Amino acid sequence: MEPVRAPKTAELIAQRLRRMIVRHELAADEALPTEAALTQQFGVSRPGVREALRILESEGLITIQRGIYGGARVRPPAATVVARYAGFVLEYQNTPISDVYRMRDSLELTAIRLISAGGPDVDLAPLREAVEIERQALDEPDQLAESEGRFHHLLAQASGSNTLQLLSATVNHVVHSHFSSVYAGKREADVESFRKAHRAHARVIDLLAAKRTEAARTLWVKHLEAAATYVGADANDERVDVMHSPSRLR
Ligand SMILES: [Zn+2]
Repeated sequence: MEPVRAPKTAELIAQRLRRMIVRHELAADEALPTEAALTQQFGVSRPGVREALRILESEGLITIQRGIYGGARVRPPAATVVARYAGFVLEYQNTPISDVYRMRDSLELTAIRLISAGGPDVDLAPLREAVEIERQALDEPDQLAESEGRFHHLLAQASGSNTLQLLSATVNHVVHSHFSSVYAGKREADVESFRKAHRAHARVIDLLAAKRTEAARTLWVKHLEAAATYVGADANDERVDVMHSPSRLR
């Protein structure tokens, strides 16, 4: 009755390997032992090992290269995997896009608070670099949406909170996907809106550096409102649609 037992064995092996990956006992990009070696190591059947690897692959924790030089390699758990899946959940639940934008507001205002409250560890350099890249992108309309999104992603990173970063990654994935589709539908790039957004980005860094929390907050509320108005997030009954095109993940 081997076929009946196999899934359970597979789940147990997957659990062992999963734990090793999550606890850093296996390093990122490290090659797993071969199927034959794992079969021996765990004292189980080859189909059991193969099924375990398929489970981990579907969880995004390993990549499997087929072929003669193939094999399984460790892929560290990533926010992008969560964000992609969360997009499916939100679309499946028929979530209004305005709901997602509202949550982005709360998360980013929390990020602003955390950055302001942060000590000398707070690093604003990546935000400054992003603003510099943005400045250059102002002359390249096809890069505007991408560079606008990058700043928001880095703002969450600068908060220093892993939890906030994870939630922001989810929200920003949906926002970016939506923003890009709205932007792609516009006849010509609205460079003036992006210039305004760019100025807000640059200004908020200065206010954060000066620890002017309230001013930073006020500015950011306005900036987020402008973004929501630009894409018409509140204007209609639009729903999350991450399936419209393969959106790039950061
Ligand atoms: Zn912005």
